[in-house]
Amino acid sequence: MENNKQYMIQLSEMPLGKTELRFHIDDDFFANKEYSEIKKGTAELKLTIDKQCELFTMLFEIQGQVEVACCRCNAMYMQPVEKTFKMFVKIGSENKEESDDVIVITKEMSEINIEDWIYEYIILSLPIRCVHDNIEDCDQEVIKYLEQDNEKSEQDNDEVDPRWEKLKELK
Ligand SMILES: [Zn+2]
Repeated sequence: MENNKQYMIQLSEMPLGKTELRFHIDDDFFANKEYSEIKKGTAELKLTIDKQCELFTMLFEIQGQVEVACCRCNAMYMQPVEKTFKMFVKIGSENKEESDDVIVITKEMSEINIEDWIYEYIILSLPIRCVHDNIEDCDQEVIKYLEQDNEKSEQDNDEVDPRWEKLKELK
């Protein structure tokens, strides 16, 4: 899929010192990502670029909410996301990724696309286990079903494994 021009930053045109840019992210941002698990969301991004000679320090501050499936009841809900991260772009002799947060570009490459970074960091800001804040917000039909299932498996656990009984007899 073609990258969105909207997220192209013209680094060569930046003045020295700090420049603040703002981006509004909505459903279209995720729709543009073919394999995205997230289909809906809104977020505000404040990007502060500090240009110093041959180094750009880019501070991303993302705040918003994206739609994910609850791990407990499987219903979709809006998960708040908040993430601050820094990327460093250095001018060097070749284009390469020096590390997770350091990119080297040549003088000739004057622009950089931040779309994939934004996406990646939104994903990283999601909790490991996405669930409704309160169990009351969960799909109650599903919860009821799960509770019944739990009770059943607890009962199963109460039954003593016959192999253990055999071992005891051997003592
Ligand atoms: Zn839920």
